[in-house]
Amino acid sequence: MTHRGLSPYEISRQFSWSRREFLRAAGLTLGSTLSRSPFRAARVAKEKKVVVVTFGGGARDQETFAPEGQENIPNMMRELIPRAAFFTQVVNRGILGHYVATASLATGAYETINNFAAIPPENPTAFEYYRKDRKRPSSDAWVVAPSNGFNRIGESNHRSYGQGLGARVILPKHLLKAAMSGGGADYEHLLRDNYENPYYTPELENRDFELEQLETILKLSATDFKSHAKTLSSPDELSLYIVRQLIRQVAPSFLWITMHDIDVAHAGAYSLYVEGIRRTDRLCAELWKLLESEPGYSGKTTLLVLPDFGRDSDDDAGGNGFQHHRTGDPEARTTWLIAVGPGIREGVIYDRQVESIDLVPTLGAMLTFSPSFAQGKPIPELV
Ligand SMILES: [Zn+2]
Repeated sequence: MTHRGLSPYEISRQFSWSRREFLRAAGLTLGSTLSRSPFRAARVAKEKKVVVVTFGGGARDQETFAPEGQENIPNMMRELIPRAAFFTQVVNRGILGHYVATASLATGAYETINNFAAIPPENPTAFEYYRKDRKRPSSDAWVVAPSNGFNRIGESNHRSYGQGLGARVILPKHLLKAAMSGGGADYEHLLRDNYENPYYTPELENRDFELEQLETILKLSATDFKSHAKTLSSPDELSLYIVRQLIRQVAPSFLWITMHDIDVAHAGAYSLYVEGIRRTDRLCAELWKLLESEPGYSGKTTLLVLPDFGRDSDDDAGGNGFQHHRTGDPEARTTWLIAVGPGIREGVIYDRQVESIDLVPTLGAMLTFSPSFAQGKPIPELV
């Protein structure tokens, strides 16, 4: 695709159209009208659960939705998208760093915090709105994040919200380090914290706290956890393992999982990047199957999957193709959203533009909270 002479808006729209065409060619229909299903939001709101997954740091269409990329996402193509509403044009106008972009997704406002520092978001997070408005305990909202630099994402420093109102954050790598007690040679592939530098990577400060999370909350002994972790191939697989325990032992209503394996692309090895996409595809489908099979979740859970942002295009001299997300070009900003669950139309594609900051207002409508400081709007097709 060549974009010479087009505005960023037009380029973004072209990405959206080609995504729609790719999916239509694969057998999906085009949604054109708003419709509400028999499961009205109000009826399920009381016990409704929502799980948000950020799709791994971003992948280009060439390796995902384009005809030549679809072999890398067989599970999403076969299992998820036919049951989902698919939005082809989710534009992120914020800073394209993983922490700040994920924080923006979680607050519904374009955060300007330093991507590389351990600081909380400035605007209240969806977790704070949810817990305050719904008077929910801290056990009901959780974040599972791959990078130790995400340890502040659960709670802002906003004066009307903040302390004590956020999500609990689990960092699976911290748990693993705590369980290891030295001798980590077998776990190096799980402990790599991020694929970009410089990054703030706090050291494990409180081993007892981490072990307590393992044993009393997740009901995992350090020994069992260590021996199971040895069988896993990546940090995102470790995260999904923790998520499974969390779902079974705690059953939170609001769960946020940040995947990150795909971002290995920064190392420049195309095969590792594609392997990351394939793994993330499989893990998303495994997660949906888990949600469908757990009695506390089945039939009342909405799963939302979206990247934090995309990657640079090949056309851009400053970007080096799949490797980075440095230029802020439309390909790096134009992502997508998959939504599946009760009340959401199945197998439809919407190609009008929505923004990544629309996520929190949409969550607000799903979980009945008021995101007073969010900048986006609820996505009407989902609520
Ligand atoms: Zn990255």
